[in-house]
Amino acid sequence: MNNYLDSLNEAQKQAVLQKDGPMIIIAGAGSGKTRVLTYRIAHLMQQGVDAFNILSLTFTNKAAREMKERIAGVVGVSEAKNLWMGTFHSVFARILRSEADKLGFPSNFTIYDTQDSVRLLTSIIKEMNLDKERYKAKQIQNRISSFKNSLVTVRAYFNNPDLQEADMHASRPRVGDIYKEYVDRCFKAGAMDFDDLLLRTNELLARFPEVLAKYQDRFRYIMVDEYQDTNHSQYLIVKALADRFQNICVVGDDSQSIYSFRGANIQNILNFQKDYPDVKTFKLEQNYRSTKNIVNAANSVIARNKTKLDKEVWTSNDAGDSINVMRTISDGEEGRFVAQSVWENMMNHQLKPDDFCVLYRTNSQSRAIEDALRKKNIDYKIYGGISFYQRKEIKDILSYLRILINPNDEEALKRIINYPARGIGATTIDRLTIAANYYKKSIFDIIKYIDKIDIKINSSTKNKLQNFMNMILRFQIEAQTKNAFEIAEIVVKQVRLIKDLEKDGTPEAVSKVENVQELLNGIKDFITDKIEQGEDASLTAFLEDVALATDFDSKKDNDKPSVSLMTIHQSKGLEYKYIYIVGLEENLFPSAMSMNTRSELEEERRLFYVALTRAEKVAYLTYAQTRYRWGKLIDSEPSRFLEEIDEQFLNYLTPKVPEPSINRFVDKSLFDDAPKGIRFQKPIQRKKKERELLKKKEIEIPKNLKKVTPSSSTKTNLFDDNVTVGNIVEHNRFGRGKVLALEGKGPNKKAEIQFGTVGKKKLLLQFAKLKVL
Ligand code: ATP
Ligand code: MG
Repeated sequence: MNNYLDSLNEAQKQAVLQKDGPMIIIAGAGSGKTRVLTYRIAHLMQQGVDAFNILSLTFTNKAAREMKERIAGVVGVSEAKNLWMGTFHSVFARILRSEADKLGFPSNFTIYDTQDSVRLLTSIIKEMNLDKERYKAKQIQNRISSFKNSLVTVRAYFNNPDLQEADMHASRPRVGDIYKEYVDRCFKAGAMDFDDLLLRTNELLARFPEVLAKYQDRFRYIMVDEYQDTNHSQYLIVKALADRFQNICVVGDDSQSIYSFRGANIQNILNFQKDYPDVKTFKLEQNYRSTKNIVNAANSVIARNKTKLDKEVWTSNDAGDSINVMRTISDGEEGRFVAQSVWENMMNHQLKPDDFCVLYRTNSQSRAIEDALRKKNIDYKIYGGISFYQRKEIKDILSYLRILINPNDEEALKRIINYPARGIGATTIDRLTIAANYYKKSIFDIIKYIDKIDIKINSSTKNKLQNFMNMILRFQIEAQTKNAFEIAEIVVKQVRLIKDLEKDGTPEAVSKVENVQELLNGIKDFITDKIEQGEDASLTAFLEDVALATDFDSKKDNDKPSVSLMTIHQSKGLEYKYIYIVGLEENLFPSAMSMNTRSELEEERRLFYVALTRAEKVAYLTYAQTRYRWGKLIDSEPSRFLEEIDEQFLNYLTPKVPEPSINRFVDKSLFDDAPKGIRFQKPIQRKKKERELLKKKEIEIPKNLKKVTPSSSTKTNLFDDNVTVGNIVEHNRFGRGKVLALEGKGPNKKAEIQFGTVGKKKLLLQFAKLKVL
């Protein structure tokens, strides 16, 4: 493809043709920033710049691969192969490997992931005889990570009274010592953690001028995508490498800065001009990705942020559909709506599953969506994450449940026999396994008869094993009288699976707690459904259902087109024809944890901006009226972001004003008349109410779902029956009006209405969503 310059607009072309010197491209979403970067690299190569001299840093390795493919289309595959492209972590890990000896590391150093780091810290804290409640390994790991990302080495820590004081204040005076020990131990083990990959690169470049010179000479052209989300450590690396030739091109959008919780610093973008006084600034204003409605709606929201650079975003694309807003009764209903809508849009518009993406604020929200998609047999994948039932904390609990149903389940037993830690080590488990093989019994049986057989396990460990066994036996007894939800709740509480996580407080721990709670919600939903349908609602049946879900995961063919599910944080730079943003509720999005300061709230708003601007053609914004959170059914309010979108871009699929809360309904009727023996009635009542409301008119059939819905004609009749000549009605957009005449039948029935605002209008009733006053 040699006419690549023709596929750029004038502003983009200027940026591609600007070969030397520092430059910054600041532009809104979908304006071709990444495309410019890609073609700029291709162009440099066309101009004779050696691929080896180009370094390009991207947000994900996948983005780098895609860019490389495009570049290969221009310059050929073999040339493109020589480009240095990837995330900061992957590129600098590669450089560190060839320079490791200078820092005293082996070139085959291990990279510790977060779990490895936490494990090491746990043992350090134990060895130092510190109180593990006060010195929580995960929290210490977070703290050390933030030191490293701000380039606070151990020595810098001990030279900084403010940092030490902060730790004193938090009653953790030994943080510095732990930090020192941790760094020493990593060094001895020949290991670097994720943050070291950046910190050690900085160290390398700072301490060894000849190494710095070598890489400065090598990377004569440096490009950084998503620059708004670089942290201080990354910023310094780029600055050092670019210092000699100053051929540095960064692209970004301050309105899409969403990683401040990981130390990303929006100031990097704002300071670029100070660092490079002769910087050339390029602005791209035309959006090629989205419809007018989407672009303008996104603009109307982000305009509310005070901290932002001035920039315009417009598009010459079609106006497109209005943005659909859907209220559902519950989170389960929200999942079903999304699955149904995806399915119908596929049928109606000849689309494939990979044209769709569902975005959520927190990981645990994927459960309801996954369950609903699976029930409809729609393929999906979790982008950059793990399917709900595959997540560690979920598998742990499921293992407990599996064991109490079947104590011989060896995989489950091995997973939890020492989780949470109860002093049953690997050697003991090995010995139990050998004995089990020898006696041809299960490990659980061996534990049962441990006093009667010849096995080399000391009495204190035997005791621990028996305690474990007794706990499982107790659960089994409980299971005889309790339903699956109650049992799961007991297990979670008694095993203290979330207690510790709750205390931890780090974002990862919070997400795990949410997942566990979501599992309990899932079990509730399961029981309710089954009881209503007169089917088996036992724990065994639930586990069977989960096993099938897991099977669905394992059969997933990664190349098969599938619906993408991801958190908004993961969605940066991506685009899809249809986007569903779910859970648009106060305290969920914006998150309850990010509403305390203006800057936190502005970051949430940027997240919303990122989410909405992923959509090319159609966007759905959904929210649930009630949702299980923190183990309780709570009423939720629509997110302020819905209010913030200029109304003219919206299409309400459900009336804006909600029905009286289901929650209140549920709370009032405390199930006096529920059949005996069903101990868990709350959701049943809730479902009943849901169905009633559904049957009435609460949930209308969304506009573009009409055509093929088998039941649409019956549902449509509901609307027909409501409206008669002479009625005063209210329309979402046009306000109040009087029905003058009716014509047509069924789905074609129209009403002529005299509105106060816009005068006479003929509206198709099935779309008009009139409220009779
Ligand atoms: P984001 O801020 O979300 O990362 P971006 O600014 O990087 O967005 P791109 O992803 O590069 O934008 O471009 C958005 C979409 O518009 C892509 O599908 C891209 O191919 C297309 N596009 C960009 N520029 C043009 C152009 N001049 N002509 C046609 N399509 C274009
Ligand atoms: Mg981009």
